[in-house]
Amino acid sequence: MSKIKLQSLAGMHDILPQDQVYFKKFNKSIEGVSHYYGFNRIDVPVLEQAEVFIKGTGQGTDIVEKEMYSFRTKGGDLVSLRPEFTPGIVRSYIEHGMYNLPQPVKLWTSGPCFRHERPQAGRYRQFTQFSLEVLGDKSPSIDGQIIQMSFDILKDLGFKDISIEVNSIGDQECRPYFKKILTGYFRSRKSSLCSDCQRRLKENPLRILDCKEEKCQRVKAGAPQIIDHLCEACHAHFKQVLEFLDELELPYALNPYLVRGLDYYTKTVFEIVEKSENGQSQGTLVGGGRYDNLVKLLGGRDTPACGAAGGVDRIVNIMKTRELKADKKQEKTEIFLAQLGQSAKRKSLKLFEQFRAAKIPVTESFSKDSLRSQLNTANKMGAKWVLIFGQKEALENFITLRDMETGVQKEIPLDKVVEEMKAKIKN
Ligand code: AMP
Repeated sequence: MSKIKLQSLAGMHDILPQDQVYFKKFNKSIEGVSHYYGFNRIDVPVLEQAEVFIKGTGQGTDIVEKEMYSFRTKGGDLVSLRPEFTPGIVRSYIEHGMYNLPQPVKLWTSGPCFRHERPQAGRYRQFTQFSLEVLGDKSPSIDGQIIQMSFDILKDLGFKDISIEVNSIGDQECRPYFKKILTGYFRSRKSSLCSDCQRRLKENPLRILDCKEEKCQRVKAGAPQIIDHLCEACHAHFKQVLEFLDELELPYALNPYLVRGLDYYTKTVFEIVEKSENGQSQGTLVGGGRYDNLVKLLGGRDTPACGAAGGVDRIVNIMKTRELKADKKQEKTEIFLAQLGQSAKRKSLKLFEQFRAAKIPVTESFSKDSLRSQLNTANKMGAKWVLIFGQKEALENFITLRDMETGVQKEIPLDKVVEEMKAKIKN
């Protein structure tokens, strides 16, 4: 029988212990920013009825057309792994009657999402997304706030040269007319479009503006722009959003061809990108916009809403190209507890627990019996102090503290050790 080599699936990756520090730093940043802006955390299931995304994300999107992990359960239900958060959060808002709460309801979340895309740099089949959602407010200041928060999170993480691109894609008033004009423009240039876009021409011509194929980009360069065709309400809304961005001094640029790949957007859309230091872009880090029709579309009341979604793996990939020295240092534990002999090992377990209760980080290597190999481990970890608990110490209830820099040792009574180490790490 041939041996099968087990490995992770294409496009799915492990987040190894040494990389957890970046995710931790990211979590700290989003928690801090969300808390400050009055957002509450929500967690929605990884698995939903497929309908939530078919209706929500939209039938005509690449995600629903080609990328969802959908299957039938044994009970016969058609379910999907979430490809994004927004439709699930909207489903939850409706299901739990959150429209009865004071509006707007401000929510944030983060966790794994799944899309069966072609794996490439910064594009995975399982990836971590964060999401910020404000439901029940139509004010353009909300659009500004969502963009500001997305920007703050990246800034917090040390991102430089971030650029924000914004556009308005109108609403049901003005978009149908613009679609007609756009279809006319592309139809007369159909033979210059890629085969996907020739198909999009029938289904959703706006998506052609999103195509990354070079030949389509060339055609796109002369296409009519939606901002010239916005209805009065959309125009006024967009103008105010830009005024907020100006006031907030955010570095934004208008991109008249930004449409985003999801069907539910109305009015404002935006994307945030950063060129990584080696010149390789990870693509869009955060994208979002207003989705005033989605709550109603999923069976709720007419509720305006706005949100953003960011790719945590892409953010982490860029963070990794930089040295996060400060945080790595924070991760390091300064105290190592070494033990020698059965009685000392038993008492060490208790002492270790006392340190935990006192919230003092201590590293140990209880599985090792040799003192030399424990000291080696402590050295490799860069521990500043080693507490040595040997046979004599266990018998006479004291511990030997060794300063790893100077090599100086001193004895501390066992009942004083937690207190003394607490004072030491404070200094
Ligand atoms: P979207 O929901 O498509 O607007 O995506 C929001 C953000 O999620 C993007 O800007 C990316 O940063 C991230 N993202 C989307 N798809 C992937 C993927 N397949 N792999 C990694 N990150 C992704």
